[in-house]
Amino acid sequence: MTRPELILASPYVAPVLSTENGRQPATITSLRLGLHTSTSKSFEDSALLAHAAGGNTFQIFSASPRQWRAGVPDPAAVKRLQTARDRLDLTPLVIHTNYLVNLATLDPEIREKSVKSFRGELDRAALLGAEYLVLHPGNFKGQTLEEGLAAFVLGLAEAASGFSAPHLTVLLENTVGSGNQIGRRFEELRFIRDLAARETDLPIGYCLDTCHLLASGYDVATEAGLSKTIAAAEQTLGLELVKVIHANDSKGALDSHLDRHANIGAGHIGEEGFRRILTHPAFREKPFILETPDDDGAGARDVETLERLSA
Ligand SMILES: [Zn+2]
Ligand SMILES: [Zn+2]
Repeated sequence: MTRPELILASPYVAPVLSTENGRQPATITSLRLGLHTSTSKSFEDSALLAHAAGGNTFQIFSASPRQWRAGVPDPAAVKRLQTARDRLDLTPLVIHTNYLVNLATLDPEIREKSVKSFRGELDRAALLGAEYLVLHPGNFKGQTLEEGLAAFVLGLAEAASGFSAPHLTVLLENTVGSGNQIGRRFEELRFIRDLAARETDLPIGYCLDTCHLLASGYDVATEAGLSKTIAAAEQTLGLELVKVIHANDSKGALDSHLDRHANIGAGHIGEEGFRRILTHPAFREKPFILETPDDDGAGARDVETLERLSA
């Protein structure tokens, strides 16, 4: 089988700029750091919150993450979101799919609801002008992993049937792999993308979550482990298809399969771990979006910490 995206994956070359005073050339970066914000007031407010926290990218839910029912965003509200994003240079906008969708399930009722709900996610993401829609690969209970992967792809294709929004890319997020969760290994994500390419025209990339990486057994907390993880991601996924990084420290240790996000520096990855992740040439140009506890301005502090560690 040919793997065009792997052939295209070229080694990263940092663009350099020679400075007038002849000092060390400065690296040009388009650092994109942000966080998940609330839409409880409005879509526009979610953008303002991201900017106020020091972000220039952000993630939202487009409807309640724990309800099947979802309304259609009001066009005037969409326009205000767009205006705020343009004015404040907030890009990309990432939408996270609600927690109920499980496109891998065999339960007919949940399956029907999941397909319908994910179609709603696609439609809203397109309407809101989001660049990315993040999706977890679901749970394969009662099936082999391979059957679960196939069930997921068929659900994805069914949901996307007749849908077209060329500027929106669906991102498969890696998981901690607890219980029957799909998406612990890069190979599973790659398998999904390859199979999906035969079933749907939906553009598909990847979102890597640093907490999920560590908890699923990819040791991103150490220098050697990070190198190994990035080499594996390059070989299996293709780094150019990794569009977003979820920057979360991990309350669970390496290979703990615990999905518990910690503030940056307060978990098993730690500040030095994040410094290496943020400054690694492979990730330098990726948007980093926090999904960490945001009590009493902790989110803004985390944005600041990421900024400091990436300097
Ligand atoms: Zn995540
Ligand atoms: Zn998580």
